[in-house]
Amino acid sequence: MWRMCAICILIWGWTTGLCATDLSASHDERLEALYLYLHQNPELSFHEQNTARRMADELLALGFSVTENFGGTGVVGVLANGAGPTVLIRADMDALPVKEQTGLDYASTVVVTSNDGNAQPVMHACGHDIHMTVFVGTAGRLMRARDQWSGTLIMIAQPAEERGAGANAMLKAGLFTKFPRPDFNLALHVSAGVPAGKVGYVAGPALANVDSVDITVHGVGGHGAYPHAVRDPVVLAAEIVTAMQTIVSRELSPLEPAVLSVGSIHGGHKHNVIPDKVTMQLTLRSYTAEVRRQMIEAIKRISKNLAIAARMPADKMPEVVVKEQYTPVAYNDPELTHRLAAIFRGEIGADNVIELSPVMGGEDFGRYGQVEPKIPSLIYWLGAVDRTLFAKSKAGSTALPSLHSPLFAPEYRMTIRTGVRVMTAAALDLLGKVE
Ligand SMILES: [Zn+2]
Ligand SMILES: [Zn+2]
Repeated sequence: MWRMCAICILIWGWTTGLCATDLSASHDERLEALYLYLHQNPELSFHEQNTARRMADELLALGFSVTENFGGTGVVGVLANGAGPTVLIRADMDALPVKEQTGLDYASTVVVTSNDGNAQPVMHACGHDIHMTVFVGTAGRLMRARDQWSGTLIMIAQPAEERGAGANAMLKAGLFTKFPRPDFNLALHVSAGVPAGKVGYVAGPALANVDSVDITVHGVGGHGAYPHAVRDPVVLAAEIVTAMQTIVSRELSPLEPAVLSVGSIHGGHKHNVIPDKVTMQLTLRSYTAEVRRQMIEAIKRISKNLAIAARMPADKMPEVVVKEQYTPVAYNDPELTHRLAAIFRGEIGADNVIELSPVMGGEDFGRYGQVEPKIPSLIYWLGAVDRTLFAKSKAGSTALPSLHSPLFAPEYRMTIRTGVRVMTAAALDLLGKVE
């Protein structure tokens, strides 16, 4: 049973009625209420105004000095606590254009109007609501323990991770020049494949380079009954999609991880009209700059040469545009990773800390470490899967919903508790000790 905080209701009108200033509720109850509020009030990338306000309020209530609207909706909280190392902890704030189908009584029912005027349901399907709750819980623990450590704690709530743009925006706004430059960067991401109560880590490259590519396949449209008189972009687009499958399977070394997926293809609007263009959207994943370069070169070469083979006029060659929202590899400094993995084992037990393999997912947290000189950084996985469901999946009787699935439903109490414990322990290990 949650208690209501009169101050919160008066000032902010929060329906959950609980915040960090409500000292009558327990730490876990306050975090649970915060999680439910965030889960039920998701906001899309760069539209995280209410979420950012809540993050700023939580940090202010704890006693951090807070800067808002930094790099879009970003929030920076600083706790200067004497001489010693500077540690940055990052949470991401944005949700996804996904209609929640978990059936939970606290499921998101938020619907916004998209740029094209359509109704768009929104959901925290990537668990960033868990990240923010752990972030606030860790900030509170470290504030209360401030007589045990010395140094500077920087807590950032970042916008637009899902667009691979928020970290860049905060860095461009001067994160490392207007605030103390960190000696270490830390973040976590929930895992849809690890049970709640456990954490996983990868030393070295952990998450991939991510590129988004748009291809416009031009043609000369006309009547579907007279295909010889047109230049058909639908057939050409189909050939390009098929031929691009040979980039990973036949052009790259089998020892190099790479992914090329066509996530969207659109063209035409009627049975008997051959359109004059088809558009495609691709995601590319890689681990090295060379593989990334090879894939982009091959897409351009294949598109152009198949168009020539299809007798497209010179002014109708396909356009291949590599989007600016590139996300670089997330590299976990091996020394820092092994140091903190030992701290995690001490905090939650060796059985609950597992070494994992790199994945082809992306995370723009990597950018905070890829500055010159580089900053040792670690992003680790926080198990979030309901333990009963996990056991069933191991027995083969059920499949686990992935991140970004409308069915993703973390076992939030255990996940948040574990997240706060390990993130607090990690920060305390890195910050200076007070004897
Ligand atoms: Zn995501
Ligand atoms: Zn995410």
